[in-house]
Amino acid sequence: MGLLSQGSPLSWEETKRHADHVRRHGILQFLHIYHAVKDRQKDVLKWGDEVEYMLVSFDHENKKVQLVLSGEEVLETLQEKGERTNPNHPTLWRPEYGSYMIEGTPGQPYGGTMSEFNTVEDNMRQRRKEATSLLKENQALCTITSFPSSSICCRLGCPGFTLPEFKPNPVEGGASKSLFFPDEAINKHPRFSTLTRNIRHRRGEKVVINVPIFKDKNTPSPFIETFPEDEEAAKASKPDHIYMDAMGFGMGNCCLQVTFQACSISEARYLYDQLATICPIVMALSAASPFYRGYVSDIDCRWGVISASVDDRTREERGLEPLKNNNYRISKSRYDSIDSYLSECGEKYNDIELTIDKEIYEQLLQEGIDHLLAQHVAHLFIRDPLTLFEEKIHLDDANESDHFENIQSTNWQTMRFKPPPPNSDIGWRVEFRPMEVQLTDFENSAYVVFVVLLTRVILSYKLDFLIPLSKVDENMKVAQKRDAVLQGMFYFRKDICKGGSAVVDGCGQARNSSELAAEEYTLMSIDTIINGKEGVFPGLIPVLNSYLESMEVDVDTRCSILNYLKLIKKRASGELMTVARWMREFISNHPDYKQDSVITDEMNYSLILKCNQIAHELCECPELLGPVFRKVKYSGSKTDPSN
Ligand code: GLU
Ligand code: MG
Repeated sequence: MGLLSQGSPLSWEETKRHADHVRRHGILQFLHIYHAVKDRQKDVLKWGDEVEYMLVSFDHENKKVQLVLSGEEVLETLQEKGERTNPNHPTLWRPEYGSYMIEGTPGQPYGGTMSEFNTVEDNMRQRRKEATSLLKENQALCTITSFPSSSICCRLGCPGFTLPEFKPNPVEGGASKSLFFPDEAINKHPRFSTLTRNIRHRRGEKVVINVPIFKDKNTPSPFIETFPEDEEAAKASKPDHIYMDAMGFGMGNCCLQVTFQACSISEARYLYDQLATICPIVMALSAASPFYRGYVSDIDCRWGVISASVDDRTREERGLEPLKNNNYRISKSRYDSIDSYLSECGEKYNDIELTIDKEIYEQLLQEGIDHLLAQHVAHLFIRDPLTLFEEKIHLDDANESDHFENIQSTNWQTMRFKPPPPNSDIGWRVEFRPMEVQLTDFENSAYVVFVVLLTRVILSYKLDFLIPLSKVDENMKVAQKRDAVLQGMFYFRKDICKGGSAVVDGCGQARNSSELAAEEYTLMSIDTIINGKEGVFPGLIPVLNSYLESMEVDVDTRCSILNYLKLIKKRASGELMTVARWMREFISNHPDYKQDSVITDEMNYSLILKCNQIAHELCECPELLGPVFRKVKYSGSKTDPSN
């Protein structure tokens, strides 16, 4: 989750005093980088994935599963045995927000050849195996997006979902002040609790997350929880919603991300824009988080939950009070979809009102940066820094980029445009961030390979997916709804080949701005977008398949890729379930389920146990995975009671 500095974190009041300093020097740092590498060309394609994991512990006797707060120790050992011993170690490990989380990436980025697609899954398996080997009896490493937790425990505020157990501590002095989420579940590195505390202080109140509850046959209507002991909660919680009040309910969720190095800044900007339109589609396809705080919700994706969980905007900025102490109204949380396209071709589709820091914008223009890039950076820089370490205030702007990264890395958007670090041989990169993590290495590889292949096809065929950005935002809303993959209708561009041959460097002749954008797109189902529909849309999978046919690929790799694409294809058509749909069915068929939207400890236990068995290939799950071929069999898991 970004930059980790060691040192003494400053309070919000102190950080705020330095906010202008951080912004000023952040921009100078960006300018140094930009001027040094703006003309870099011919960097080769490199890419890598990031998988976030949760550590869980099963109590088979009492049929209970808890999140283990040992991420820091596990990480330390993984790094010690891995990258610190051998710089070529095949895996890299990083901390994540939860003390029960770790993040794994390949040790070296993947390159541009097709055969690399055939190594992704093995690398993910290796990661799972490596981390699992450090766990204690009955513990497991899970790739679940959102931990369902248990309502009974949480509702009473009794310690329950972590091991060791801790009581939430909703008093002054705590980082979250949450009624439900103990501060001990936050990673012990000071960055994470400081972020949590400073977001709350900047906002002026606890964060508020209200997720619509899924109304089952016996769910009370209206569904109302009362919090008489907490005035803030009583005011903030909404009827018919699951109320949550801590950053951990959002940033404590896991995702699957992919970062690409482009050959030049203009290719990176083109990819950033093109992939931004794909975000809601792939997010809906990857939906894996239907349960929150022990209840069945009416959403399938984590996105809006995380967005609310780090929303540091004041009441003024959110438009609830007239502007007095703040500079702007801000329409979105720091964790949200992108607000402007970056390539020239995107310009005419930039139809969202963009709040920018005008001074910074002018300064960037004066330095020779074009309007689109200048407004992008000036928009990121309307935010305050959320954490600052005393030892890291005064930096060498020509050779360091911490202040730039400070603002950049706390703008958690669907896409991230990443300038190279100072003095490195890394090129311009873009990060694709909307996907939910899947249960198995097979699925995670499939989603990653699908997205990377799509970038190859976008670049080779010069495809154009652009539609007005406001429509992409509408798609983001639809994508999170329950069963969006089958029921949602999404705005998508009809003619994706229209850009002609000049999309990257300029815009094709056909792109005359008087052309009515409205005729360029229409509402489509995900099935149509992914699989195509005669006379309407060619479909992304058919396009990928024809690209594959034109490429020289060894048989084994081709076979793997075709399997991955099959999974995506079948998830899009509904022949296979998304993880979210499968979890819903599992809970609704559980003998203890009372059709009241409540997930008990025991139901939670059987669900996570099943997820772990599927991940370790100890059982089949054709409704989720189909009869797919798998290459390696695990020898078994410590956590399977039948072992
Ligand atoms: N866990 C966050 C998510 O689910 C992402 C954190 C990060 O940026 O690494 O989107
Ligand atoms: Mg992460």
